[in-house]
Amino acid sequence: MRIGVLVKQVPATENVRIDEETGTMVREGVEAELNPLDLHAVEEAVRLKDRLGEGTEITVISMGPPQAQKAVRAAIAMGCDRGLLLSDRRFAGSDTLATARTLAAGVKKAGGFDILLSGERATDGETGQVGPAVGQVLGMSVLTFVSAVESAGKGSLVVRRAVEGGHERVEAPLPAMLSVVKEINTPRLCTLGGKIRAKKTEIPVLGADDLPLPAEHLGLPGSPTKVVKVSYPQITRSGKKVSAADSVDGAVEEILSVLRGRGIV
Ligand SMILES: Cc1cc2nc3c(=O)[nH]c(=O)nc-3n(C[C@H](O)[C@H](O)[C@H](O)COP(=O)(O)OP(=O)(O)OC[C@H]3O[C@@H](n4cnc5c(N)ncnc54)[C@H](O)[C@@H]3O)c2cc1C
Repeated sequence: MRIGVLVKQVPATENVRIDEETGTMVREGVEAELNPLDLHAVEEAVRLKDRLGEGTEITVISMGPPQAQKAVRAAIAMGCDRGLLLSDRRFAGSDTLATARTLAAGVKKAGGFDILLSGERATDGETGQVGPAVGQVLGMSVLTFVSAVESAGKGSLVVRRAVEGGHERVEAPLPAMLSVVKEINTPRLCTLGGKIRAKKTEIPVLGADDLPLPAEHLGLPGSPTKVVKVSYPQITRSGKKVSAADSVDGAVEEILSVLRGRGIV
């Protein structure tokens, strides 16, 4: 069984800043990390490999600047076998469609997978579109919000999907693309051995010329989504902080007096 995992490197901050002129994310001077939600996709891939046994191999793929190889190595340290980085200046400014087309071309170049996993969403762009879009481009079964893989093998798999108000059990033919929710597992910590192996593993890098994609599908020119304006919410209310550190009763009384003063209570 061939398993693939898509991982994205994201800014290690909740304070994502956008360049107001280009509408793209400011990455300079911001520390980066493996998208926290992708850790669950990596963990599930490693657990599947343990369950399916010999002959199962996991390849981790990322598209991003050269430093995104750190995210690929982090996944290898957790137990993936090999990595692939898609990196080229011509990929810059990709929206979810261009990203998905590029990643799908990378998946094909890697020989294709029976099961392809992604996180539910990236903590920066947060669209949750890329994983399913890659599956769609490649004509795979697409299963989103996967909260458990009950069985896999012999041409099909059975998963549980988190849906509003409960769970849904679905059987689908392979090859299948699964975007997983964080409830699916608890990601393991890397071992020292894993880290050493990840450091030693060579990560091939493919650029635009290595992928069978027309130039009009790449990067900003290949992205139909345009960020036309970026604005930040304006805080118009001044607000007042009431601390209960010294006295809870005192804090309650203070809040009540404000509410009474405004005729609310
Ligand atoms: C604030 C902000 C707003 C944006 N708004 C839009 C928008 O409205 N429309 C639009 O098309 N684009 C938008 N983008 C661009 C978008 O972030 C990029 O297209 C990005 O490459 C992928 O989308 P995402 O971050 O939403 O990933 P998601 O779709 O949220 O990611 C889901 C999963 O797909 C996989 N994945 C995603 N990207 C990669 C990658 N590069 N390499 C490997 N695996 C990956 C990961 O497993 C990830 O967990 C926006 C970006 C920002 C920062």
